[in-house]
Amino acid sequence: MARPPTAKQVIQARKAPKALCEEFWLLVGRRQGRIWYARRIGRCVGEPATVGFDGLAVLEREERKHDVLGFLHTHPTSAATPSRRDLHTMRAWTSAFGKPLLCIITGTDGLAGYLFADDRSRGWPLLTVEAFPRGVIIGVEADGG
Ligand SMILES: [Zn+2]
Repeated sequence: MARPPTAKQVIQARKAPKALCEEFWLLVGRRQGRIWYARRIGRCVGEPATVGFDGLAVLEREERKHDVLGFLHTHPTSAATPSRRDLHTMRAWTSAFGKPLLCIITGTDGLAGYLFADDRSRGWPLLTVEAFPRGVIIGVEADGG
């Protein structure tokens, strides 16, 4: 019979796999008034806060199709609220695109979405955001957002 793991082993096991599996997608689709119809594409996996992805490809996609709505990523070990880095990243993208973008996060407390209107935005929470099969995400802005 195997010996039960030590407290140290348990702590390491909890940290290791989760900390390395933040996921990231680009959201494309269209916006009609307060409703955002998005589809997630181009999944990337990386370490939290350093999820690497092809920024140039994102800009090229927007230039070609004008359908980039924002980004979806996971917080495997924290709540679905934008981190400091998320704020910086979203402001930079909003500035680069010259249009509002969505930051959707899947956290330990579920799914949440934030609208970044410009490069000074702190992220306005969406009224509701829901995930559907085949990578479809629908977000609804709150009144007066
Ligand atoms: Zn984040």
